[in-house]
Amino acid sequence: MLKVEVDLQRIKDNCLNLQQKTTARIMAVVKADAYGHGLEETALCLAAAGVEHFGAGSVQEALCLRKVLPRVRIYSLLGPVEPEDYKSLSPFKIIPCIHSQEQFRQLRTVAAESGEPLPVALKLETGMNRLGFRPQDLPGLMDLWARSPGLELDMLASHLCMADVSGGEAQVRRQLQVFMDCSRFFRERGCIFQMSLANSAALLAYPETHLDIVRPGISLYGDNPFAGTHLENRGKCLGQAMQVSAPVLAVHELKKGQGVSYGLCFTAPKDMRIAVIGCGYADYYSRRLSNIGWMFYQGSRLPVLGRVCMQLSVVDATHLSGLVPGEQVWVLGGLGPGMVSAREMAGWLGTISYEVFCLLGQNPRTYRNG
Ligand SMILES: *Cc1c(COP(=O)(O)O)cnc(C)c1O
Repeated sequence: MLKVEVDLQRIKDNCLNLQQKTTARIMAVVKADAYGHGLEETALCLAAAGVEHFGAGSVQEALCLRKVLPRVRIYSLLGPVEPEDYKSLSPFKIIPCIHSQEQFRQLRTVAAESGEPLPVALKLETGMNRLGFRPQDLPGLMDLWARSPGLELDMLASHLCMADVSGGEAQVRRQLQVFMDCSRFFRERGCIFQMSLANSAALLAYPETHLDIVRPGISLYGDNPFAGTHLENRGKCLGQAMQVSAPVLAVHELKKGQGVSYGLCFTAPKDMRIAVIGCGYADYYSRRLSNIGWMFYQGSRLPVLGRVCMQLSVVDATHLSGLVPGEQVWVLGGLGPGMVSAREMAGWLGTISYEVFCLLGQNPRTYRNG
């Protein structure tokens, strides 16, 4: 029974604050349903804030975006995977990011059949060792390009793997160097294109990586990649847009020595009042939060007691007489000191804020300030 509230003004403000930090254009990364914030709603609010480039995940997501934003530039970051994906690109003006010669060959056929030039973005492998053309692949790719008149080079892109890690400076610099070498290769062969390397962390910490287009994702949604580090100030302009609440279903006594929930793995050290909350792992409130998570109610932190169940959790409400059935508690967010940040919850879970947003964002959403 979790309810997600997304504050669209926050996303807009985050975007405007990020734009202040760079002269590059912003490609708003809205993959994975805008990190759980809702693809269409998020993209519409960002378009209203002046964003003209969007990075969707799959081609399917790009198509959903095209329905609500007929004029912006839409990239599919994952590129075409299924045969149908290739057919949708041209008619809906979706620019694929591609990483293989096989994709290139298929796109060449698509462009030849449609008779229209097809822009493509190339993913370059600069040091993450995931997807992309490696520097040594480029001469072969260039030969193929010479025989593919329908394809236009729109953008060179690569992804940084350590921009948000302390001690990652050397890796960022190495990747930038490889990226610049690759781009020189294309430029010397007469190509004209845009360049894009920076994610949120690089946008905040590495201006030299901004180039033509920056690609913030997590920072748009308000997580500061440098929270708790000496670079914290760089992201202090960001505010979390997602809040998640759950209903109080019952409040009762737990006598000293009594246990609670499956396995009775919490035992009351003294007489307590506990509140049973309507949320559990079926709502993507992870069972790993058992005995370690916290909820938030009117300025107070409520520790999760015992096991998180499928639809229920239990918290300590000993000092909160106002916490009665019908009230809502925050499992994420809340107002003022003590609010639960995605980053903090991620710490309890041994994951990152990205996963917290993606999972909790699966619950029904409502929007504010749209
Ligand atoms: C997800 C993604 C981003 C955004 O990264 P953040 O760390 O969320 O800013 C940028 N570029 C690509 C290719 C991505 O897949």
